[in-house]
Amino acid sequence: MKIGIIGAGQLGRMLALAGYPLGLRFVFVDKTSEAPGGQVGQIIEGEFDDPAALDRLAELADVVTFDVENVPEAAVRDIAERVRFLPPVDALATAQDRLAEKRTFSALHIPTPRFLPVATREALELAVAQLGFPSVLKTRRLGYDGRGQKFLNRPEDVDDAWEALGRVPMILEAFVEFDTEVSIIGVRRPSGDVRCYSLAENIHEDGILSYTRAPYIDESLQQGAERYIRRLMEHLDYAGVLTIEFFVTGDQLMANEIAPRVHNSGHWTIEGAVTSQFENHIRAILDLPLGETRCNGHSAMVNLLGEMPELVEVLSIAGAHMHDYGKEPRRKRKLGHCTLVAAGAGERDLGLSRLLRLAGRSVRE
Ligand code: AMP
Repeated sequence: MKIGIIGAGQLGRMLALAGYPLGLRFVFVDKTSEAPGGQVGQIIEGEFDDPAALDRLAELADVVTFDVENVPEAAVRDIAERVRFLPPVDALATAQDRLAEKRTFSALHIPTPRFLPVATREALELAVAQLGFPSVLKTRRLGYDGRGQKFLNRPEDVDDAWEALGRVPMILEAFVEFDTEVSIIGVRRPSGDVRCYSLAENIHEDGILSYTRAPYIDESLQQGAERYIRRLMEHLDYAGVLTIEFFVTGDQLMANEIAPRVHNSGHWTIEGAVTSQFENHIRAILDLPLGETRCNGHSAMVNLLGEMPELVEVLSIAGAHMHDYGKEPRRKRKLGHCTLVAAGAGERDLGLSRLLRLAGRSVRE
């Protein structure tokens, strides 16, 4: 059985590493054969919408999935007609457009920050008049890791943000003064069976995930998040792993965005849960029984950005594991992550402080 993956980044690499023990083999499409997936599978070189590369992928693979979201919709609609393709293209299309995503939340009664579509400079003026300052202007498409968004704090920011974001279709969102950010990861089989992981707490710096702790223990928020993700997965007739990121304000969740794939805030599940998000994604797209999602303890995951710490130093911390994606170092680039699993939250947090110090950062209070 061969799994095809559009994108051979670290997510594709970790999907393949989880699939090998199940007897599966992997083939990727990526712009470069240097991409991390190339270490564990064949890469067909080409753009994500290169018809020749996608044809070859459809020929070689029994099931096709993706590890990136910015795959042109028309290209995947085409491949989905020729080979089993999961998660569904409609779910991918919804996640690619912040306006469609927000409208889906609203239609399903999943709370989300107030938002308005902004197609023109005049519409932006009207939206600012309604939502006020501070607010957040985001491009509808191709935003990730804090890119494609600007915070508006005063009237002078409006022009600059409109220009800087390239006058493309956008949304304006009310600024949420959140207590913290959490995410839930769920997995669904085509037959409808669903499992959810514990909520994870995510700390971002400059829009990029810095570290994650799980479980984030709050029974009522956990129940709410599971209700929302089940509703969303059913609505999208979903198969595979899906992530929702939320802001937490008091006892309320507000959905920020979804990712129709395995997610950086779920890397802790490799060592910190009975079955990892990667293995469960593969099980789901093959319609195999889903694995247990229970936590093995208290986990922390630290992203390694821009430069790698010494392996020996990471491994000298009790309970720590290293994941090196084998990428060329570049400023703020995600080069790897390390995870730590401990029996208790206090012990986990001590280890987390040490990991963050090795990664050149500190715990945010
Ligand atoms: P996003 O690209 O939408 O995931 O946003 C990246 C980060 O910007 C989020 O994780 C938040 O920390 C922050 N952010 C995005 N939208 C808002 C908002 N409406 N209010 C406050 N902070 C936000």
